[in-house]
Amino acid sequence: MIPKHTIDEIFETVKIEEVVGDFITLKKRGVNLLGLCPFHNEKTPSFTVSPTKGIYKCFGCGEGGNSVSFLMDKEHYNYPEALKYLAKKYNIEIEEEEMTSEQTQIANEKDSLYILSTFANTFFIKSLWEKEEGQNIGLSYFKERGFNEEIIKKFELGYSPKNQSALFNEAINNSFDKEVFLKSGLGFKVNDKVIVDRFKDRVMFPIHSFSGRILGFGGRALSKNAKAKYQNSPESSIYNKSKVLYGIFFAKNQISKLDNCYIVEGYTDVLAMHQKGIENVVSASGTSLTTEQVKLISRFTKNITILFDGDAAGIKASFRGVDMILKEGMNVKIIPFPDNHDPDSYSKTLSSDDFKLFLKNQCSRFYNIQNFNFIF
Ligand SMILES: [Zn+2]
Repeated sequence: MIPKHTIDEIFETVKIEEVVGDFITLKKRGVNLLGLCPFHNEKTPSFTVSPTKGIYKCFGCGEGGNSVSFLMDKEHYNYPEALKYLAKKYNIEIEEEEMTSEQTQIANEKDSLYILSTFANTFFIKSLWEKEEGQNIGLSYFKERGFNEEIIKKFELGYSPKNQSALFNEAINNSFDKEVFLKSGLGFKVNDKVIVDRFKDRVMFPIHSFSGRILGFGGRALSKNAKAKYQNSPESSIYNKSKVLYGIFFAKNQISKLDNCYIVEGYTDVLAMHQKGIENVVSASGTSLTTEQVKLISRFTKNITILFDGDAAGIKASFRGVDMILKEGMNVKIIPFPDNHDPDSYSKTLSSDDFKLFLKNQCSRFYNIQNFNFIF
């Protein structure tokens, strides 16, 4: 909880022209400042900032508000997140209201898990790019799958070595706590003495929060003997599967700009679409779509397009999703893929332009709860 007096101090301190000025170029025009609107496409500036009133207003699209609403609209922060951003920018200390010892413990645990996740992510990335094993096995796998280096780097893909305790040993050598390691789900106990890495011998897909923090991982097995092809981090105090969407951090600005969010099934579908220049795409990553995930999308757009695999299981899974999306008051489009294709494989048979054209032509209208029955 941010106390009232701190909120007042933030509002008294912030300068709207500085807050907006971090995102767009403003030029002086009389007592006001003028720039190109970040909320709609325009060539002649109609976005006006009034330093005296502390507000902005776009005469092209009608968007308007104060520093906090600017951050909420532009960066999709919620109210406390916007306040914290401003407090940081202006060096205002937020004295959060006194927490109980239980709350403090949870907060400390979360902090440790975030730090460990970042550490693990760096370890996996280094193992992929700098170690011979990672280059030969992990990097060559991604390249065989058709992913270029730019995409591999952008999504911070990595490699978890075959050595069953490689990450655990590295973490302990860097003074991480064994209990925190176990709580993160990055490893588990096989007996009293031995802790092994959950993701050994896998290529790694870190899962980012919408503000870019590492919450957990998905790992794809490379050995044929592995029990599960994909494995995900178990739930922890920072990773709640049903509230996370894979790719949201990289997609949010485009989702909001293009006013549509594509939903695909797997990690590699998200990567393949990005590689084709389509960035407004996320995946429910290992769960069927949840209400919380749809609510997260609704912060950016009311329109969802589901891309589903052209097999019976794919169709069934997306139907469950459609019903729930409609109940949340969102509009939904469905694009089926040709038999035995998913967005990853199909996108690789087409050029960027042809793939975009395919998506455009497949379905030209959104369905809402009233006209949903007419789809099939
Ligand atoms: Zn505008």
